Amino acid sequence: MATVTTRAAYLRCIECGEEHEAWGTLTRCECGGLLEVVRDLSALDGDSLRRTWEARRLSLLPEDRSGVWRFRDLVAPLAASELVARAEGNTGLYPVPHLAALAGVSELRLKHEGENPTGSFKDRGMTVGVSVARKLGASNVACASTGNTSAALASYAALGGMGCVVLVPAGKTSPAKLSQALAYGARTLAVRGDFDVALELLQKLAPELGLYVLNSVNPWRLEGQKTIMFEVLEALEWEPPDWIIVPGGNLGNTAAFSKALLELRELGILDRLPRLAVVQAHGASPFARAYEGGWLELLPQRADTLATAIRIGNPVNYPKASRGVRALRGAVISVQDAEIMDAKALIDRSGIGCEPASAASLAGLRKLRESGVIDEDARVVAVLTGHVLKDPDATSEYHSGQAPNANPPIEVEADEAAIRAAIGDS
Ligand SMILES: *Cc1c(COP(=O)(O)O)cnc(C)c1O
Ligand SMILES: [Zn+2]
Repeated sequence: MATVTTRAAYLRCIECGEEHEAWGTLTRCECGGLLEVVRDLSALDGDSLRRTWEARRLSLLPEDRSGVWRFRDLVAPLAASELVARAEGNTGLYPVPHLAALAGVSELRLKHEGENPTGSFKDRGMTVGVSVARKLGASNVACASTGNTSAALASYAALGGMGCVVLVPAGKTSPAKLSQALAYGARTLAVRGDFDVALELLQKLAPELGLYVLNSVNPWRLEGQKTIMFEVLEALEWEPPDWIIVPGGNLGNTAAFSKALLELRELGILDRLPRLAVVQAHGASPFARAYEGGWLELLPQRADTLATAIRIGNPVNYPKASRGVRALRGAVISVQDAEIMDAKALIDRSGIGCEPASAASLAGLRKLRESGVIDEDARVVAVLTGHVLKDPDATSEYHSGQAPNANPPIEVEADEAAIRAAIGDS
């Protein structure tokens, strides 16, 4: 078990079909198209894969204790010694019957990706992306980020002994996320512009500056993010829910989830597919608009939402994500920031907690239920993408205001009577 299965894998352009070797430094095809990782699934047997993944749960080897590398047969053909990993994944899947009742569905589970090492699902992508970068001999990795990508990349680059450059929109990143990038030692550029501009600049300058780009345009990152679906389905004994719901920003998860589910079906591990709902913030909803417009085109917009992790106006994974949503008979909607924050308060109050962007999934479920897209006997899994401490300012602000679920702090005099009165009042 010391070496990882080395099934051949290669990269293929989703636009022109051109094939590229697995271990090349290209993150896009020469034609500009997105690349995807392809492997020969006919050489794999679904039943034995399931048993192998299960057996690895008893192992203490680092490559088996990672919720990403336990599924390495469908992730990346690397040797155990090549991995830059820190036991990412293995996140909880929590049944929340009271939130199911509130949303009006028969079952709801929350998959909490905030439980990853740096507090978001980005770690699943970065363990793969950074391992590949090191195999390629890259000495410097880089990303543009609304915050969480930079936190994850900075951590994994440090662990892998590589230099790291991150570009974040100046003044538009939560201080908690920014502090992670600084702490892990990334050269951190606060760009006076939004995320979309920062990513464009980075992609343009990366070759000249010798930087290996690890935004979700990188196909290996998405291979890591597929494991969110592998863990969910495994926990449900491969019996798919009716719907999976995920917030959408740059649409890496949307692309990765659909690839994961289609692969599981091709391997005979799933006998039917769940449907996929993607939820955007109203102020950053180009994908929802493209869906409503019958997929005619993606019109980039200037993004604005308090859910900073999905404050993206020109999602780079649109071509993969739109195909994925179609293949899974999915739906895409947008919700208002106030709906996101109220849903977040409910998730937080249940004891689980998440950052604002994550709560778009519950806000979206309520809306999809109201409009009848999701029906009342549906079994639903909603993905919480980030940790409750990722954006403490947004949470404090919500609770100090007049919002429906606000729980404001009570300031009292330092004496017994005042404390007794304040507690007795509750
Ligand atoms: C990155 C991120 C998203 C957006 O995910 P995409 O794959 O880019 O659509 C959503 N929520 C959180 C917390 C994130 O960090
Ligand atoms: Zn191409």
